Amino acid sequence: MLSKSGFAPRLVAWQRLHGRHDLPWQNTHDPYRIWLAEIMLQQTQVASVIQYYHRFLARFPDVKTLADAPLDEVMARWSGLGYYARARHLQRCAQRVMREYGGIFPRDVEMLITLPGVGRSTASAIAACAYGAPQPILDGNVKRVLTRIFGIEGFPGAPRIENALWTLAESLLPALVANQEENLKTMRAYTQGLMDLGALVCRRARPDCARCPFQEECVAFATGRTHELPQARPKKAKPVRRAFMLVLRSGNAVLLERRAPKGIWGGLWSLPEASNEAELLACAARFGAFGPFTRLAAVTHTFTHFQLRIEPRLATLPACAYAGNCLAGQEQAWTPLCELHQYGLPAPVRRLLTR
Ligand code: SF4
Repeated sequence: MLSKSGFAPRLVAWQRLHGRHDLPWQNTHDPYRIWLAEIMLQQTQVASVIQYYHRFLARFPDVKTLADAPLDEVMARWSGLGYYARARHLQRCAQRVMREYGGIFPRDVEMLITLPGVGRSTASAIAACAYGAPQPILDGNVKRVLTRIFGIEGFPGAPRIENALWTLAESLLPALVANQEENLKTMRAYTQGLMDLGALVCRRARPDCARCPFQEECVAFATGRTHELPQARPKKAKPVRRAFMLVLRSGNAVLLERRAPKGIWGGLWSLPEASNEAELLACAARFGAFGPFTRLAAVTHTFTHFQLRIEPRLATLPACAYAGNCLAGQEQAWTPLCELHQYGLPAPVRRLLTR
């Protein structure tokens, strides 16, 4: 098991040797440039961001220029990066920094978080990379790295897991020293190291564990669960709709009805259907069948947006009711069970009848 105090020194050493050092926002202490990169990187890959970053800075080299620019021009320079709310927040944020902080981004994470478009992880990245503040970041890459190394179960976006990850991220931070310049260098290497490890080595698909500085202690690697961690967002339970179906038998035949051309299973043959028991009783009465009916085991069928729970009720008429397919026609048919294969039936209805 990896000791928490050993995490940061190893990551920093790895970043200095194997991490990225030539990204355009790495070699500056200007919080404006660091903030701009962090916002652009929120939903976009590094490779796509670089050209936009240069072009944006060429037109808006500082926070005042950005704050004073027409919004249309900001949007135009952002165009192509997507998620345009980020561009609107960007300018509102620049205007707040000008108005409330005299054009200088605050050092304090609590203040940074109040700025438009700046979440906790972005605020921490700005504070760490611009000011050397000992603040943890926790973006998607970092969540992936931490859940794998420490074998953390559960969907990382769930509040309980996310809180636990923040606590873990805080406990892994490098120890501070008296020298402020040294702390700044360490925090920059550490923060960048987390991003680099997630982007270059501990990738979502096919992590390159052979190159990972944490391979020996990584729980996901040791247990062969790199593809399972972090766990995916739990699928939302689909709403369940109930349908009552009448299995009306006469001798060796069953009554089928053609479904309306539109709606689910449009145009297929099926059993008479009702949305509740009372409706089903009325439907059965039309064919001379009166309850009580036998409850058959329910059948569940999953559609894209809901589950259909079919509750079949069996009613039996004398064999003479099925007098040589007397109901045969366009919309209803007494059908011998041995001829079901000739009818286009929905899969769950066929399953129900063949069992
Ligand atoms: Fe990720 Fe593999 Fe490293 Fe574990 S060993 S942190 S899975 S790259």
